[in-house]
Amino acid sequence: MKKKMPFHRRFILPYRVFVDKVNTFDGSGLSDSALKEELRNSSHCPRRYGLIKETIIRCKGMVLFDTQLSAAYAMEQGMIAELPTGEGKTLAAVVTALSLALSGEQVQILVFNDYLAARDYKENKEVFQFCGLSCGCILQTTKREHRQAAYDCNILYITAREAGFDYLRNFMAFRESGLLRQHFHTAIVDEADSILIDEAGIPLVLAGEEPTIDKNYMTVWKTVKELDAQDIEFQEKEHQVWLTERGAVHAERLLGVNNLYELENAHYLEMIHTFLEARLLYKKDRDYIVKNGTVFVIEHTTGRVAEGRRFPDHLHLAIEIKEGVKARKGSQIYNMMPLQFYLLKYRRLCGMTGTAWSSRKELKNMYDLSVIRIPPHVPCIRRDHEDVILSTNQALYTQVYHKIRQIHQTGQPILIGTQSVEESEALAGALRKRNLPCFVLNAKEDEKEAELIALAGRPYRITISTNMAGRGVDIKLDKDAVTAGGLFVLSTGINRSFRIDQQLRGRTGRQGEPGESQFFISMEQPLIKRHVIENTGKVQIRRIQRMAEGEDAQMRYLLEKYSLILEKHRRMITQYREVVLRDIKSVHFFETNAPVLYKKRVAESGTQGVLCAEQQLLLFYINQHWVDYLAAMESARESIHFAILGGEEPVDVYQRFAVRAFAEMEEDIKKDVLSKLKTCKITEHGVDLRGEGLIKATNTWTYMIDESKSQFAKVPSLLKYIRKLKGTQL
Ligand code: ADP
Ligand code: MG
Repeated sequence: MKKKMPFHRRFILPYRVFVDKVNTFDGSGLSDSALKEELRNSSHCPRRYGLIKETIIRCKGMVLFDTQLSAAYAMEQGMIAELPTGEGKTLAAVVTALSLALSGEQVQILVFNDYLAARDYKENKEVFQFCGLSCGCILQTTKREHRQAAYDCNILYITAREAGFDYLRNFMAFRESGLLRQHFHTAIVDEADSILIDEAGIPLVLAGEEPTIDKNYMTVWKTVKELDAQDIEFQEKEHQVWLTERGAVHAERLLGVNNLYELENAHYLEMIHTFLEARLLYKKDRDYIVKNGTVFVIEHTTGRVAEGRRFPDHLHLAIEIKEGVKARKGSQIYNMMPLQFYLLKYRRLCGMTGTAWSSRKELKNMYDLSVIRIPPHVPCIRRDHEDVILSTNQALYTQVYHKIRQIHQTGQPILIGTQSVEESEALAGALRKRNLPCFVLNAKEDEKEAELIALAGRPYRITISTNMAGRGVDIKLDKDAVTAGGLFVLSTGINRSFRIDQQLRGRTGRQGEPGESQFFISMEQPLIKRHVIENTGKVQIRRIQRMAEGEDAQMRYLLEKYSLILEKHRRMITQYREVVLRDIKSVHFFETNAPVLYKKRVAESGTQGVLCAEQQLLLFYINQHWVDYLAAMESARESIHFAILGGEEPVDVYQRFAVRAFAEMEEDIKKDVLSKLKTCKITEHGVDLRGEGLIKATNTWTYMIDESKSQFAKVPSLLKYIRKLKGTQL
């Protein structure tokens, strides 16, 4: 059973000495109960790993590879382990989780999506139970009442975003029993680079319905539909659109307003902008799909439909109106937080992925995490062919069809990586017309995705996929596919980052299997077109990619700078709210701020009732004014570029604004709570909020904002616009 891997010695395996010690341990003589007993009492590390190795042999019939032991130990040390796809990272995480949980830590394994959470939980819970540890799993569909028990398990499988959303939801609790206790001991992040880097800056948002829909929406939409090409300046590749001088005049006439740029018309201008975006920048079946009269967002990184997510601000509503589906009420944001700050709450953060090395500097900067590179347990024999560069899209597809046919004839399975859902559909159509049967993996086949990707390794199979759809699911080859040369991964373009290209490549050549990969790149691809350089050859193409990587890193850095102050405020208010919720007696808010009134009300209604009322009102108004604060910060970000006119650093202006907004919020909370406490009816149960006309948020939903497409993407164009304005004035 146990294979000998002599070539191990030829690679420098991190923790070689440690792994050798683990391997000298032979637990096969122990009875099950003796093994369990030893596990409970082992504190010494190589020995504990030896016991875990034996446990996994018994529970799963698998012998841990040295590479897995190495990765597990690196993670226990708080690092990111880079281990190629198909090397068994799922099981490595089990080892880390076991080792830490046995020493009393709670471990959360943050996986990439719900499908993987359910799968990994099901596959591994018995190992944990064998060791006397409890194991839970939370999915998007898990009911509130089952979540606490899952959070209290020794090991929990959950997606990072779901855990983050639960954290945000705690802000809406009005009773201590409404708070979910999340233990922030250890997080093991799977597909770590995607979550820690690509998704890090994206805020998790908890939103709810706004009381009413603004009737002006339909009027503005009609206006926007009337605008023609000369009214609009439109830059598809930069994802920007705005009104021209002529357009503004036209819109003013249609709306019957004097000057759109006057402050009192600011809401019109904002709406026009949103509708222009909805009309020109957001495309059906690329950015969203319409199913059963509802607009669903397509996640760009995965090409999957994002359940329960909405486009930010009023954009979603605008798209609903554009598509003529029943528009829901507008949304307002109750709380938000970039994923990065959520992840930083854990005492120990570690992770695993097939591709982290090229982003190690960012991981160090953002999280103080180090990356350790672990070679595959069998050398990789995949053949990565040279990039093929073509001058037009048409030439590219001609070559791609030709290549696909050629490969297909040999029986080799093919996985084609495309840049968008739209492209994958078009490509599938074109291939079918050419009698090349294929399967498409994208947002529309959400449920079948895992199934389809698992079958992508059969002979003659052609699978078309968006970016990273079906991640985390292994593509297994059968014997015939291996003989035919293994999986051929073919991409119709390069991604914004080399790392993501590598993820696609990593789909083939797993565990020493044969495989090939090749990228076809057209000079007409948006990424390349943006950076026209002379004599674009292979080297330059990859240079453009590095430039894009640099831009993205800078954008993330800028975002982080902007988010920091808000995060500080969010922490302050959250902490205060929790104290109010858990221990109102210690707050002394009413007593210190209005001692005379306090005594009067206590005399009338008793201490208990007054304390209760104080608590309820504080919680209510904190939430209400936090909404206003967030909205104010949002519009500050939208308008911050004007600071440039005054020659100031926008971030500084923004931070000053934030400090002021926070102080105002504190003032407003105080004022409103005290004035309500003066007039409201207090019983022994406190105050009847509804009776006092104070309506709590009930219908809430969650989503993630794709920042790269919103606020900050506008900054450069607005700067250009402002410069233009200045130019005309001078
Ligand atoms: P990764 O997440 O690294 O891409 P997975 O965790 O999905 O890889 O594992 C890939 C496959 O390898 C799975 O089918 C898993 O059961 C198998 N596997 C993992 N570890 C071992 C092992 N030690 N021996 C044999 N098979 C293993
Ligand atoms: Mg995996």
